[in-house]
Amino acid sequence: MNVVVCVKQIPDPAAPAALDPGTKTLVRTGKLIMDDSDNYGVEMALQLAAGEGDEVTLVSMAPGGETSGLRTGLAMGAARAILISDDALAGSDALGTAKVLAAAIRRANPDLVVMATESTDGYTGTLPVQVAELLGFPSVTFAKAIAVDGGTVKVERQTEAGFDEVVCPMPAVVTVTAGVVEPRYPSFKGIMAAKSKPVDVVTVADIGLEAGQVGATGARQEITDVSKVEARAGGEIVVDDGNGAARIVTFLEELKVI
Ligand SMILES: Cc1cc2nc3c(=O)[nH]c(=O)nc-3n(C[C@H](O)[C@H](O)[C@H](O)COP(=O)(O)OP(=O)(O)OC[C@H]3O[C@@H](n4cnc5c(N)ncnc54)[C@H](O)[C@@H]3O)c2cc1C
Repeated sequence: MNVVVCVKQIPDPAAPAALDPGTKTLVRTGKLIMDDSDNYGVEMALQLAAGEGDEVTLVSMAPGGETSGLRTGLAMGAARAILISDDALAGSDALGTAKVLAAAIRRANPDLVVMATESTDGYTGTLPVQVAELLGFPSVTFAKAIAVDGGTVKVERQTEAGFDEVVCPMPAVVTVTAGVVEPRYPSFKGIMAAKSKPVDVVTVADIGLEAGQVGATGARQEITDVSKVEARAGGEIVVDDGNGAARIVTFLEELKVI
């Protein structure tokens, strides 16, 4: 079985983030790391593709030929990676990104595609279903457990009340939620092995797309304005002198909560 995991490489959330004043998008010029959300997808894929001949392939779109985050996934145990990196991709919106990922995934000919429910930096949560639609694959979201049985995938799909059991034919796109598996730490041996694992770095033309379909030229979304979040107003401190409960009720009534 061939499982593809989409891995987003993002600026380290521990470092101060900056927006480009011109494009109003996140500055991604420094070293990128594997999004923590994708740790769970990589771990889930490695557990599913643990049989003879099974393989996990990572797919990422990132600027500057960045592979640091991919090496983390390779150190965990993925066999190979495809990186789409091209100056023409600057300014890609969500749909443009989905077109690129779908085209690269098609090249890998997967039985299953695993993605995170949402990324840590963009968190639109729209990419997985867009990728599934472009590939013509069924999609199942919010998986807390995945099992493969012949040509079908069985998913326990998280709901507010518990979970639904969803069965669908493969190939399929499945999104996993954070915390559903315990991601392994890359071993020293894994880190050393990752250095020589194949990373196929491809351009927009290599995956059969035209520059006008992606990047700022192909984007249908535009960030028109960015503003600072309003500072929080100081709260009101009520000292309970015997009528504290009544004061809370009045406050909730004012908010029209009760
Ligand atoms: C007008 C506009 C211009 C933009 N310009 C840029 C730009 O110049 N540079 C830039 O980096 N971003 C840019 N962005 C942001 C970019 O479009 C989003 O980061 C991208 O579409 C992914 O969205 P998301 O992170 O919200 O995905 P989500 O839907 O939240 O992601 C869900 C999952 O999909 C997978 N995934 C998402 N993105 C990738 C990826 N790149 N590679 C592999 N897997 C992935 C991961 O598993 C992720 O957890 C721009 C956005 C807009 C609207």
